Amino acid sequence: MLMATQVGDVTEIKMGRSLDGVTALYWTAAYLIDGILIDTGCDYSKNELVDFLEGKRVSVIVNTHYHEDHVGGNAVLAKRFGLGAVAHTETVGLMNRKHELYPFEREIWGDPDPCTASPIGASVKDGAVNLRVIETPGHCRGHISLFEEKRGILFSGDTWVGERPKTARVEENVHQLISDLRKFEELRPRIMFASLGKVVHDPQEIITKTRAYMEETRDNIRHLHSEGQSVDQILEALFGRESVLAAATQYQLSTKIFIESFLRGT
Ligand SMILES: [Zn+2]
Repeated sequence: MLMATQVGDVTEIKMGRSLDGVTALYWTAAYLIDGILIDTGCDYSKNELVDFLEGKRVSVIVNTHYHEDHVGGNAVLAKRFGLGAVAHTETVGLMNRKHELYPFEREIWGDPDPCTASPIGASVKDGAVNLRVIETPGHCRGHISLFEEKRGILFSGDTWVGERPKTARVEENVHQLISDLRKFEELRPRIMFASLGKVVHDPQEIITKTRAYMEETRDNIRHLHSEGQSVDQILEALFGRESVLAAATQYQLSTKIFIESFLRGT
């Protein structure tokens, strides 16, 4: 299913696989600002995205990262409209091949067709819009965010998912995520278009709160670890129990991984 909403100069396009035609299993989001389309949702909603964009002016796709819920429409949009894509060099090398997906990923988002993209420069321009590329590789390698300076519009990809994250995937680097949030604070955005179609007005406070929570969590985890507590003991002490998402994602997204990520590196 697909739902589009106009938020100022940005069209928010929420998409997802629906089993009942009323709700999505999990929302993904693409954003259109002038002729720039940021991300393309998942494989299950790709044809709805093509129908939605029919007759609209789109000059280029920018992918924030290679995950299957962000590149699902790329191949069919290239075929239907001849649309080219740009992404971080590392993302370009990850989008052009199939990835081994876990059952939950196939179930929720589907397996996207490989697609081509060109390496992105320092910014992307279309008409009066100029999006600055902000490297934010904490979520995964090659992840970028985009910032429109004049209006303070931030497209944050999957960098910010909520105020108090409690889970992570193995490829996430929580230390880098803290640095990425600091970059957002320095930008002082006026609006943030985030993961899962979340739109946050005046996001400065919530970004700062999220960064402070991450740092406090890091310090608490390190302290308990230095006292000899195991990951399971730290999990119980700080979070009570494992996230319900863990079993649903074949333990690819879990609180245990979140804790382990804080204990890896600095
Ligand atoms: Zn992602």
